[in-house]
Amino acid sequence: MFAINHAATGLIIKKIYPDVPITTILVSVQLIEILWVILNYLGVERTTTEKKVQSVSDVHLEYMPFSHSLASTAVLAAGAWILFTFGFKEVNVGIAVALGICSHLVLDLISHARDIVIAPFLDSRKFGLGLYEKPVVAFVFETIYGIFCWWVYGGSTALFCIIVVFNLANASFFIKAIPGPERFLAHRPFWITTIVALQIIVTAVLVGLFS
Ligand SMILES: [Zn+2]
Repeated sequence: MFAINHAATGLIIKKIYPDVPITTILVSVQLIEILWVILNYLGVERTTTEKKVQSVSDVHLEYMPFSHSLASTAVLAAGAWILFTFGFKEVNVGIAVALGICSHLVLDLISHARDIVIAPFLDSRKFGLGLYEKPVVAFVFETIYGIFCWWVYGGSTALFCIIVVFNLANASFFIKAIPGPERFLAHRPFWITTIVALQIIVTAVLVGLFS
């Protein structure tokens, strides 16, 4: 799922746990993506593309068992829960952060092609409902989902505009007929990583400021 809608998920968690700082929640919903960015830059995890990139279906998250696997997410969520609950005595923060971390993988499992494994070093089958193999459906789903999060939260008009504009700005990544920056991403995995990193930062800052 794209960064804006992971950030929007943070709004639902904020609604359930209003005493937990939105910054903490926004980091938690993107924690495994931040790991993915770092591990891609380090060359530990790997992203490949088709010869021509016209939509997300031409980008392949080839190897990412440390950031995006069922086991690594469970370990990270459990670790964060233990740290906040028993280390800092912040029970609600512990639950909210664990929820945020798990929400990321659940949403990626819905949207991604089959690229999520059970655990690192385990040659298992890969999971993913494959919405990104039908990019137009994914675009509609992601946009409606982002707006749904805003609606549950009861956000401002400005927040609504941010969620809609960022989803529309991603349209070229979903609809092949719309040309966009994805054309330049073929065989440039570091550019993909950088675009994801920038989207994480910008969407988190905007959603945080206007929430
Ligand atoms: Zn992800």
